[in-house]
Amino acid sequence: PLDRSLARGGYGALRECLGGARTPDAVIGDLEASGLRGLGGAGFPTARKWRTVRSHPAPRYVVVNADEGEPGTFKDRHCFETQPHRVLEGLLVACWAVGADEAYIYLRDEYAGIRAVLARETAALAAAGISPVRIHLRRGAGAYVCGEESAMLESIEGRRGYPRHRPPYAAEVGLFGRPTLIQNVETLYWVPEILSRGPDWWRSHGRRGRTGLRLFSLSGRVARPGAYVAPAGITVRELVDEHGGGMQEGHALAAFLPGGAAGGILPAALADVPLDFDTLREHGAGIGSAGVIVLSDRDDVAAIARELMRFFRDESCGQCTPCRVGTEKATALMGSAQWDAPLLRELSTVMADASICGLGQAAPAPLLSVLRFWPERVGAEPSS
Ligand code: SF4
Repeated sequence: PLDRSLARGGYGALRECLGGARTPDAVIGDLEASGLRGLGGAGFPTARKWRTVRSHPAPRYVVVNADEGEPGTFKDRHCFETQPHRVLEGLLVACWAVGADEAYIYLRDEYAGIRAVLARETAALAAAGISPVRIHLRRGAGAYVCGEESAMLESIEGRRGYPRHRPPYAAEVGLFGRPTLIQNVETLYWVPEILSRGPDWWRSHGRRGRTGLRLFSLSGRVARPGAYVAPAGITVRELVDEHGGGMQEGHALAAFLPGGAAGGILPAALADVPLDFDTLREHGAGIGSAGVIVLSDRDDVAAIARELMRFFRDESCGQCTPCRVGTEKATALMGSAQWDAPLLRELSTVMADASICGLGQAAPAPLLSVLRFWPERVGAEPSS
């Protein structure tokens, strides 16, 4: 509840902002010095985004993407369930810094318990006069694609969740055509902490030259699945051993999905590669929202890749042909014991190059991982 958060010093950073002890430029400067990047998947530098939105004319909006539909990702839920006021304080600081007096939280509908908490606590905030910002709570309706930011904006505006063509970007033409700051829940969760402890505190964390912390959603064949705060640059092997209690009995680490359904599948031979933005790209994978799913020697990667393609087929919004038809065709082709690798590769190129949004562009990632790391499993020639 709000009173408990206040008793523990919650909203201290916001108070300093509203009281004039901090300026928007100084706050954005601190975020820039910390190097904080968006933790929803894209990893865009947070300070740059705030500055861009602020540079466009008011009225402006802030939207919290709390749709969290990526399979294997549940860290935003953890933020809201453990420290909802820390996220709300981050949101209010963001509104103040970019000059927005209305904010929207787009919440995954399955998070009914969180919805009740947010409805109660945002009302308490308004009643306590802590911030002048009007916070609207919007329920998602279960479409994976509505986690894509422009589809989310369409959905908030009351339309079908079709992703928009970009540019223009939301920072300039976003919600209701206005400049809009869109942030993931976890990014906002870290903002008050970085402001009160300082950017150097944030930069003091990290391994192998990476900086900062992040919440990993760890699931699959580990002994203790859960959401864990760990330093950027940690490896899967360390994550499993230090946080997940090791592998489940009788299971050996064989593969892992570093970033949910859209981040590809990697073999255990790459379990010592640091998990961070950019480091996995050369292996055809990405950390995304850090939903790490661990697979064992008892799992069939080809069957999992096909299941993921089926998922993308079902979740494709159908707006563009490469994704609508490509996911359908790939699912069918992946049903054979022996995959037609040249055709699947060609199809993947078209989907990645010509789809409107990230869903269609990233859908081939798991299938390409199988062709790259486990070609013998699907009767394909090893890639050169
Ligand atoms: Fe819709 Fe897929 Fe096209 Fe995205 S890529 S707009 S989900 S059809």
